[in-house]
Amino acid sequence: MIATAQTLADFRALIGDIPCIDDSKVLESKSKDYYWYSPILKQQLDGRLGQLVVTPRTEAEVITIAGAAAKHRLPVTVRGGGTGNYGQCVPMEGGIILETTKLDRVSEITPGRVICEAGCRMERVEHAVAGTGQMLSMFPSTKRLATMAGFVSGGSGGIGSLRNGMLRDGSNITYVRLVTLEEAPRVIELRGPDIMKVQHAYGTNGIITAMDYALVPATDWVHTVALFDGYDTALRFAQKAQGEGLDAFLMTVVEGRFAPFYKRLAGYFPADKDAVFSMIAPDAMEDFRARVDAMGGTVSLSASLCEIEEQNLPPAWELGWNHTTLQALKHEPGVWTYLQTAYPQPFDPALVMKQIARYGEEIYFHHEMARMYGAVQIFALPLVRWTSKDRIYQIIDEMKRLDGCDTYDPHTITIEDGGMKEIDTTQIDFKREADPHGLMNPGKTRGWTPDMAKA
Ligand code: FAD
Repeated sequence: MIATAQTLADFRALIGDIPCIDDSKVLESKSKDYYWYSPILKQQLDGRLGQLVVTPRTEAEVITIAGAAAKHRLPVTVRGGGTGNYGQCVPMEGGIILETTKLDRVSEITPGRVICEAGCRMERVEHAVAGTGQMLSMFPSTKRLATMAGFVSGGSGGIGSLRNGMLRDGSNITYVRLVTLEEAPRVIELRGPDIMKVQHAYGTNGIITAMDYALVPATDWVHTVALFDGYDTALRFAQKAQGEGLDAFLMTVVEGRFAPFYKRLAGYFPADKDAVFSMIAPDAMEDFRARVDAMGGTVSLSASLCEIEEQNLPPAWELGWNHTTLQALKHEPGVWTYLQTAYPQPFDPALVMKQIARYGEEIYFHHEMARMYGAVQIFALPLVRWTSKDRIYQIIDEMKRLDGCDTYDPHTITIEDGGMKEIDTTQIDFKREADPHGLMNPGKTRGWTPDMAKA
């Protein structure tokens, strides 16, 4: 339900001098994320708008906003960098957009851990910890824009997951501090396994204000492009290298058909070769080159981050994960969309070759090497030529029935219909405590129905 002008004015009166904007252009841009990767979500979400953007600068201001919103029963959509892909930041019922990016203090850096405020951009935290010889254990390819709590609440894994696992693995985040959405808001601290109550909850059960994150010793990773004849050879190279513990932070495998989208890699990634983009430890470069050689490949690029920047080339982390899809969408908007698929174990490149033969020009393949609960897990983020919603769901069904592949559906807005598959009752129980009136990011979890809201 959209709030009346009077309710909004009453809310504003309660929050005093906390920055608050109702300019229509600002509302439009702050009511969007990257849901437009999906034509299905675009149709569902275009035109959904928040009514006020508030930007707290301290946790005390978050508490003031939460209390005022609860008093007036105003929906609240928390927004970090707004880089989510599933409309996680789109307000379905108007109300307040609470932008966290001014909560950006890094408070404590110790060996292996950083504690910071929720709205810190991940890259800023990385710069802050660099002086101690450390780096983030893992980050999304959007680290320049993404915030720490946005990653906790909306992300899954990324660059570094190859070594340090996915977000759900349990040790990347061990502490979260949040504010409840009640007339008298409370501050709750979650530690250890309890953080799962809010992890990947799309900001539906509490406003995170601070958190910790795992650090690992900093490495001056070598950004590389290795080229192979045949996508199965490229996959086998990456699978073997990961399985045998090559010291790497990222390994992204893409078909040669992606080459025209990678304009900035012209000369390093020709269309008649399939590529592996990696971040390799300097000490492991000899091993890396020998492995590429043994599979009949060539290394077309190897450079430190500093050299990459000097040559105006993209860093390897912006060549993988969902940046790969972005390259295609930048060059051929409206032509492509994508899927997110996990393969049955043990991973068999022959299955991918079967899929390539089956889908021809309809699907271009891209795979990511990761580790989930300690075990190697290989995901695909294939580009799919957009025709219709029915066709997308036919493909998802075929990949399940014929290939045993599970899809984390990126064309849906609820937590359950996307990656999680089922209602997480622990998160819903926590929502009763942290958001008893059901005001946070309405419509994003199937586990909450309006009758559950406290009057
Ligand atoms: P937002 O989009 O602002 O928010 C995400 C969700 O978190 C929303 O539901 C929001 O309400 C909630 N939220 C934000 N802050 C808070 C808070 N303080 N308290 C409570 N809830 C909060 N994801 C990956 O996991 N790995 C990748 O490698 C990756 N690559 C990407 C590449 C591209 C090009 C794009 C467009 C997206 C990619 N993503 C990836 C998705 C997204 O960038 C990440 O999940 C990112 O970490 C989200 O951070 P954000 O600050 O932008 O979050």
